[in-house]
Amino acid sequence: MATLLIQDPVFLQHHVPSGHPERPQRLEATDAALADARFAGLTRAHAPAAPLDRVLLAHDAAYVDELAKALPETGVVQIEADSYLSPESYAVALRAAGGACLAVDEVMAGKIANAFVAARPPGHHAERDRPMGFCLFNNAAIAARHAQNKRGAARVAIIDWDVHHGNGTQAIFWEDPSILYASTHQMPLYPGTGAPSEAGFGNIVNAPLAAGDEGEEFREAMTARVFPAIEKFAPDLIIISAGFDAHWRDPLAGINLKEEDFAWATEAVMDIADRRCGGRIVSLLEGGYDLTGLADSVAAHVAALMKA
Ligand SMILES: [Zn+2]
Repeated sequence: MATLLIQDPVFLQHHVPSGHPERPQRLEATDAALADARFAGLTRAHAPAAPLDRVLLAHDAAYVDELAKALPETGVVQIEADSYLSPESYAVALRAAGGACLAVDEVMAGKIANAFVAARPPGHHAERDRPMGFCLFNNAAIAARHAQNKRGAARVAIIDWDVHHGNGTQAIFWEDPSILYASTHQMPLYPGTGAPSEAGFGNIVNAPLAAGDEGEEFREAMTARVFPAIEKFAPDLIIISAGFDAHWRDPLAGINLKEEDFAWATEAVMDIADRRCGGRIVSLLEGGYDLTGLADSVAAHVAALMKA
């Protein structure tokens, strides 16, 4: 079975002020990398808009309404310290969430082996009732809830290797033992959460790294903390919050991973997924702000997924 790649030109229509790191050029870089002949075997699809009731699985109606009403007629408007809206941003965010849900549909139906969703804006900082850190809707949280509500997944594990802690995903599932949230991230760093003591109801696993850490420390954190927790949890589906800003070239953080480290992590998660959940993995792009580091890392990640 093939790997599904969800791409959509609509993701370029969420605009930010000049100089903002979470910019459309990120996806132009990943789309160019994934146009290479070695990715010809991918099944490709565009992203449908998520219906509102699906977004409300992870967000308050008042917040979603507020976001829709805050859209500017032209230009960009700031809605939070690091987050902006342009005229199409709400529609684009619905498509990012919808792409994640389509990936869940296809993987849970057994039509494809696994999936990668190359969407923006990212999602893991968005909380139930507020945008945060470039994120509008929490795509991973919406996808996990959709898998549970409509696609028969009782237990979903979310692995988050973005260099920033996914405070939004952690907060949304803090009291929910049917979801495991496991994260490696640089600490201290934005957003400030993610200490090992933050454990929810035993369903949150935080394995922070320190500035300057490299592949060796990343692999150790994954092997010692994250993977055993996933194995023990025995999920029906694994969602990866796949940020690539722990790459050594990334300007927003100080972890020094190479694309081989992301390929290694991908294959290790695939190995767990093969044994625990029929190989079912849905990977969602989060951060990654150096265009070369991002494109190379996404290529390594997707190439690994295609080995399924
Ligand atoms: Zn990040």
